[in-house]
Amino acid sequence: MTCFILDTSALIGGLRPCSLSGKVYTTDNVISEVKDARSTAVLEAWFACGLKVLSVTGEMIKNAKSIASGSGEIFKLSDTDIEVLALALSLKNECRVVLVSDDQTLQNICQKVGIEWMSIRRRGISKVSSWILECEGCGRRYSPSLKDKVCPVCGHRLKVRRIARDR
Ligand SMILES: [Zn+2]
Repeated sequence: MTCFILDTSALIGGLRPCSLSGKVYTTDNVISEVKDARSTAVLEAWFACGLKVLSVTGEMIKNAKSIASGSGEIFKLSDTDIEVLALALSLKNECRVVLVSDDQTLQNICQKVGIEWMSIRRRGISKVSSWILECEGCGRRYSPSLKDKVCPVCGHRLKVRRIARDR
């Protein structure tokens, strides 16, 4: 079972509603950040196909903060980012977690703590890692830690791609 966690960038960034096969979760803060009409419509479409909002406890936030501070990047994370990370960490033992986010700091931390991530836009990830997996079908990019080398969205093969470390 794959659990996808959507952050705000996933909901406003054009990820097609209902395009993920697995459980799909988000957090309270993410929902409160979705304000414009277009993104609200996207959010409603996600709810219609099973998106669930999970609450994060103070204990989970504390844990996420201590992990993020170990990576030295905690100052770059918003409260929402921490909440999303906390949810990902808490689900890690129940399912295979894929965090859907275009936020590079979150992607970096995921990489360090062994949480798979997926980006929505094709561009924008240049400092995360020098190697990524890219889907031959839809072009989505994934962390090199993704276990099956198959796109969880469209089912095409993922090929290893070298990306520049700096823009
Ligand atoms: Zn794909």
